[in-house]
Amino acid sequence: MAAAAVAPLFPIAPGFTAAMWLSQYNYYRVHKKSHLDPAWGYKFLPWHYDHHMAPDQDKNWCVTFPLWDYVMGTRMVYKGTEREKLDIERRLRKAVKNLELLIKMYQKTDDSKVAMN
Ligand SMILES: [Zn+2]
Repeated sequence: MAAAAVAPLFPIAPGFTAAMWLSQYNYYRVHKKSHLDPAWGYKFLPWHYDHHMAPDQDKNWCVTFPLWDYVMGTRMVYKGTEREKLDIERRLRKAVKNLELLIKMYQKTDDSKVAMN
């Protein structure tokens, strides 16, 4: 959509228009890859990981490079902080608790099958 919007500028400013198209293509490519391969995103786009995983999602808007987050004051580092560590521990405890509940439910179901036979 945005690519089509700048297309009329091509005869006037071909370099600018081509840069816009390349930037948009790079944005979609990098953003998609970071969501399909979270380990890659965690390593190469930490600011984008911070956007999705940090408590304040009104920060870290940039995807390909965090320049404008620094300029606008919206960059907030989360990856590698104590807060991230505590959040990961909390999520793991919750996941373990849910797994234990599932195991108990499965065992009850399995016990009832044994009792019926
Ligand atoms: Zn994203």
